[in-house]
Amino acid sequence: MNAADIVSWLAVQLKPRYHVSGLEGIYYERKPYRITTPDTPMQAVTRFIALARVGNPQKDKWIYAMNLTPIDKMKMNDILQKTTDETECPYNVQELSNTVIPQNQMKRHQYFYDMSTPVDEKEHKKVKRQKIEFDQNKCWFCLASSNVEKHLIITVGNETYLALAKGGIVEEHFLICPVQHHQSSISLAKDVLEEIEQFKEAITKFYARNNSVPVFFERNYKTSHMQLQCIPIPSAAQRELEDIFHDEAESQGIKLIELDSSPLDQIVESKKPYFFLQLPNGKKFCAKIDGSKGFPINFGRDVLAMGPILNMSDRVEWKDCILGKKDEEMLVKRIRTDFEPYDISESI
Ligand SMILES: [Zn+2]
Repeated sequence: MNAADIVSWLAVQLKPRYHVSGLEGIYYERKPYRITTPDTPMQAVTRFIALARVGNPQKDKWIYAMNLTPIDKMKMNDILQKTTDETECPYNVQELSNTVIPQNQMKRHQYFYDMSTPVDEKEHKKVKRQKIEFDQNKCWFCLASSNVEKHLIITVGNETYLALAKGGIVEEHFLICPVQHHQSSISLAKDVLEEIEQFKEAITKFYARNNSVPVFFERNYKTSHMQLQCIPIPSAAQRELEDIFHDEAESQGIKLIELDSSPLDQIVESKKPYFFLQLPNGKKFCAKIDGSKGFPINFGRDVLAMGPILNMSDRVEWKDCILGKKDEEMLVKRIRTDFEPYDISESI
């Protein structure tokens, strides 16, 4: 066993998002990989960065700036999302484990990292199986989940709730989400859908006070809990909006189908991914997503941000727009007060 084995073993246990090394004094960035083990099949990618010596004469990179979002502030989907240049895990997890900590010494290392086998082997297996399944208690959007960011919630109805979008494109960028866990609006019961319509009406009136109109969209692709995005745009911008959406969709190979009066579930097969859009003129569109071809994750938000509609090209990525918790709390407090006269949750 050598020092590298111990560091490798440690990396396997910790599964860091960034692994930085200065040992060899060489600048090197490895393509990302995921350290998965049977216990933890779902992991964020690891990026390995080796840096040169400080002030080295070759001027090789020795300093590295990072802008990190804490993992508990990230969405599960973003954590799990594949990168195009992902490579295989460079570690032989089993071999490392055997080399670094022989089975008979396991217990001695408990103070550092508890790898001991639970006494009840059956219990252990049960825990393992649960981990692989989607854990609703950890859903970012289930109201009952411990992970839901309660300080972002504006108001709660019977079936749905209204929340501030984290990293919203503009201040009054909202989400309408079902209280219970549902993946998409296709799986929703009639009363849930009705309440969403009531919220949409209330939001339309709310935005109108600022001469704005709402664009609603839902992406049922790489999401686990349904979210209807609500973004206000200046009323004057809506005239061009439909053409802009069509042009953008076409240029990205997306076919927007107008829904007329037919409901979404007659166009999209159940459990198939889709993108749904409702423009301020009331027209509804959907795009069927071919999972194998992928779909631009920011479509909708980028059309509004990049083009002349909102003209905020630096606000396409929600992660670049995240406010500090204090600012989020202050903003939600202001919106709760302003939204109160429009709130439907009090009348239902
Ligand atoms: Zn959920």
